[in-house]
Amino acid sequence: MSGDDDPPVELEARLADQETFEPSAEFVSQANVSDPAIYDEFEQNWPECWERAADLLSWDQEYDTVLDDGNKPFYEWFTGGELNASANCLDRHVEEGRGDELAIQWEGELGDTREFTYSELLREVEEFAAVLGDLGVREDDVVTLYLPMIPELPIAMLACARIGAPHSVVFAGFSADALATRMNAADSDHLVTCDGYYRRGDALDHKEKADEGLESVTGDTTTVVVDRLGDELDHSLGEDQYDYDDLVAEQEGASVDPVSRDAEDMLFLMYTSGTTGEPKGVKHTTGGYLSYAAWTSHAVLDVEPDDTYWCAADIGWITGHSYIVYGPLALGTTSVMYEGTPDYPEKDRLWELVEDYGVDIFYTAPTAIRAFMKWGQDYPKEHDLSSLRLLGTVGEPINPRAWKWYYTHIGGEECPIVDTWWQTETGGMMITTLPGIGEMKPGSAGPPLPGIDARIVDSGGEEVGAGDAGYLTVDNPWPGMLRTLYNNDERFLEEYWREYSDPDADEWVYFPEDGAKIDSDGYITILGRVDDVINVSGHRLGTMEIESAIVGTEGVAEAAVVGGDHDLKGEAVYAYVIVEDGYEGSDELRERIIEGVEEAIGPIARPEEVVFTPELPKTRSGKIMRRLLEDIASGNDLGDTSTLRNPDVVDDIAAQVRGD
Ligand code: ATP
Ligand code: MG
Repeated sequence: MSGDDDPPVELEARLADQETFEPSAEFVSQANVSDPAIYDEFEQNWPECWERAADLLSWDQEYDTVLDDGNKPFYEWFTGGELNASANCLDRHVEEGRGDELAIQWEGELGDTREFTYSELLREVEEFAAVLGDLGVREDDVVTLYLPMIPELPIAMLACARIGAPHSVVFAGFSADALATRMNAADSDHLVTCDGYYRRGDALDHKEKADEGLESVTGDTTTVVVDRLGDELDHSLGEDQYDYDDLVAEQEGASVDPVSRDAEDMLFLMYTSGTTGEPKGVKHTTGGYLSYAAWTSHAVLDVEPDDTYWCAADIGWITGHSYIVYGPLALGTTSVMYEGTPDYPEKDRLWELVEDYGVDIFYTAPTAIRAFMKWGQDYPKEHDLSSLRLLGTVGEPINPRAWKWYYTHIGGEECPIVDTWWQTETGGMMITTLPGIGEMKPGSAGPPLPGIDARIVDSGGEEVGAGDAGYLTVDNPWPGMLRTLYNNDERFLEEYWREYSDPDADEWVYFPEDGAKIDSDGYITILGRVDDVINVSGHRLGTMEIESAIVGTEGVAEAAVVGGDHDLKGEAVYAYVIVEDGYEGSDELRERIIEGVEEAIGPIARPEEVVFTPELPKTRSGKIMRRLLEDIASGNDLGDTSTLRNPDVVDDIAAQVRGD
């Protein structure tokens, strides 16, 4: 290695023991929110404080009431108000003279590009809104969008919003069955899909999957098919199926007025990622959701209109809804959208894009960061990443070692990192530091956002002391919260409210089903889902905490910990470990892992078995599927593995554990 290559390694060693980090004075001086008084302001002025979020939008009709809590927990926000989400994301920026500024910069996996100014995007959205109207889509009809990361996806979402038809986006990686289940559950008669798309250089046939799903959809369906692949894939249309371009050509120059929607009218339906079981149809509204997405994009992601902002998630998840489409476009910024995978054609693909587009703000998931870490620092080093100002993560806890890697090798030790805890159900971020205020503690998401009343309680609902593990709960409602589960109020109450509420006293507490602990500064560390707790000889251990200790071991890229049946202890800790490139899954590493866990948590958490594996079973959204690893550890039947991103890996791991 040349002398130039040495500093990052040294820096990492220096950072290894550092527990807190401050944003730079330069960052703070330009931050959208930098006055710590905001926490008190929100607390003292609750719920009116949320007008600050609503003020980021343009309303056709001002609301009368900020919060209507007359029928808890069916809270309503900004009642009496009327607005349109597409007008807020497009028209008003054009009317303010910003029509020539870029709204979306898209890049395909093979390097093809498309870009849309706000005026251009508005025109596309109006034309497609006219198409939908012509096909018979009426206000409140649910339109299903089964599309990959191509511009027609946000265009279709905004076109739906324009005419008041809620969209239900089904992640393109999902199966035909998953599509049919969601269309039937939502009673959706309209589908927008495409012929195919590129994945790691291959043209995937998507239409075939959509057609297969449609066979199980009850009722007559109208389908619009985007021709993404051109001649690469023949796209033949069946009955009631239309070509996107043909329909849009007929509507050239159409103007479609945005309909005024009540603040509480549904903007979209989104199914949770299904990590823990049956996906839930989460209902989000126009006024509360949009103001919350805009507010958190402003306060947490620090988005400004002249920024180039990139959330490298898929729009098929809530992260993409709130932080690729609605939040950033409501604020009038330039959003980058990328079709492909981070390692195609090379493992520096994302850094190439950051450099090419001059990305200011970058938001991704820990699963991606751990992959970057495994691939090594040379890939980001090949690129000029100095345009970056802020980094973010979401989706899973990020362990301190990965946090510091991200901070050093992507952020050049200059960008604050926001570790944002939230869920499909919360609509937007809930627990994270504000990047311009106070210190960051790697491994801890941070305090609840201003106005968010999160507490850590024991099973009886009493607040636990600093450092003790408990259950995360949220006492007060917030504008971005889900309003119900689609057509299923009973399950809504059951899933989120029964556990800690006292209906007789009309006291309602939201329960996200995550475990957490809080420190004496009020910083919250998420310990994982409540059902991911291992009970070893009567001691309750959080899987995330053990994983964090393991991933803190040099040479470990990623780890998943589960409980497996054990004759004596009840349950024992099983650790599945991916080794970093350049290291080996040796006995020596196994010893260091075990020592690391004993040191960080105690001998009680000592893994019974450490299994080295090249991959972990992951859901389509990139989260580790622990249920399967538990079944392997306990020697149970593995059941259906088809919803995994990588089903093959399960058999390999099972063979290793069983010693086949
Ligand atoms: P399902 O609810 O269908 O099982 P899911 O919970 O994976 O799927 P999402 O709503 O996409 O679907 O994920 C939310 C969950 O992700 C949270 O409840 C939490 O467990 C985890 N999570 C998200 N962000 C963070 C974070 N910054 N730190 C720790 N955990 C996080
Ligand atoms: Mg969930």
